[in-house]
Amino acid sequence: MKRLFFIFLFLFHSWGYGIEIKISILGIFKPKAIRVLNQENHQVYEIRIGGQNQILVNGKNQIFFTLESSLPLELSVPSKIKRSYVGKILISNQSGILQIVNQIEIEDYIKSVVNSEIGAAPLEALKTQAVLARSKAYEAIMKSGKKAYHLTDLTDSQVYKGFEAVTKKSSRAAAETEGEVLWFEGKIPEIFYASTCAGGTVLPKDVWGKNSPGYEAVPCGYCTQSPHYQNWKWEVSLQELEKIFNVSHLKHIEVQSSDSFGRVLILSLVFEDGVRRVLKAEDFRIIIGRYYRKWGLVKSSFFSIVELQDKLVFVGKGLGHGVGLCQYGAKEMAFLGWDYQKILNYYYPKMTIGQWEVK
Ligand SMILES: [Zn+2]
Repeated sequence: MKRLFFIFLFLFHSWGYGIEIKISILGIFKPKAIRVLNQENHQVYEIRIGGQNQILVNGKNQIFFTLESSLPLELSVPSKIKRSYVGKILISNQSGILQIVNQIEIEDYIKSVVNSEIGAAPLEALKTQAVLARSKAYEAIMKSGKKAYHLTDLTDSQVYKGFEAVTKKSSRAAAETEGEVLWFEGKIPEIFYASTCAGGTVLPKDVWGKNSPGYEAVPCGYCTQSPHYQNWKWEVSLQELEKIFNVSHLKHIEVQSSDSFGRVLILSLVFEDGVRRVLKAEDFRIIIGRYYRKWGLVKSSFFSIVELQDKLVFVGKGLGHGVGLCQYGAKEMAFLGWDYQKILNYYYPKMTIGQWEVK
């Protein structure tokens, strides 16, 4: 009987928690060369772009490079970054850039994302982040098509800084919520969260126009301690805006509509002849970010616009899109003694917490 129990435990474990996720890593550096150190046997691999969609591994042409080790593998993009990763590393040539994918067990991945995303925080805030990070991971796996990876290591997915980001506390947060995800109507919903909502959260359809079920806009008075809560400013001239939007005779930009908390939803570009062109505040942020190749100039859509001669000054508060969990709000709630279930229930009142399973 005892033996049967252990066989069951083994099967359960290998089925439930041996699931791996593929993360595209270090893509932001568009690497053409990388060095991989296997710390187990001190072997070094110099990998660079080769001819005809191949890569050169220590001078030899090949299509793929795969490496797995019992110790974290150390990756360096010369003069850019050095990071370590557990699990497998898979490298290939994607149109002249090295595509580096880390294939890692979900629970190991969660331990790193928790700290990469929320940093130093009370345990219950880390556990909140663990459930969200895991939900996002499983959701990505469930809907993955033929892509070579499920998520990236950046904020457009969720931040993942590899093995160095794992701490005792982030490991504990992952372990104490092992396997737990958010559910809505029998599915893992699309998961969104952001840094500092600055007064209230917002529905996905109000930000991106596309509905994502299971969300509710809730007030948040808990993120006032966030370093991003204070007024930020971004100044731009009308001429510069004309260049950014590729238009002429721009007169000013107006707030067309806001939500009940004061977050701007729709803006109008107003032209000298009275013509108006409307756009979503979030699209405005994305266009500005792309133009300057710098995120965080217009940190959120919680702003007002002040006109100064030929300049516009955007004065705002908060950081991020404001959908779902407010990370700084969650930190404060945890300081106040809330547990992770209560925090998740506050920001996602329509969703429930449960074990991941194939439904
Ligand atoms: Zn907040």
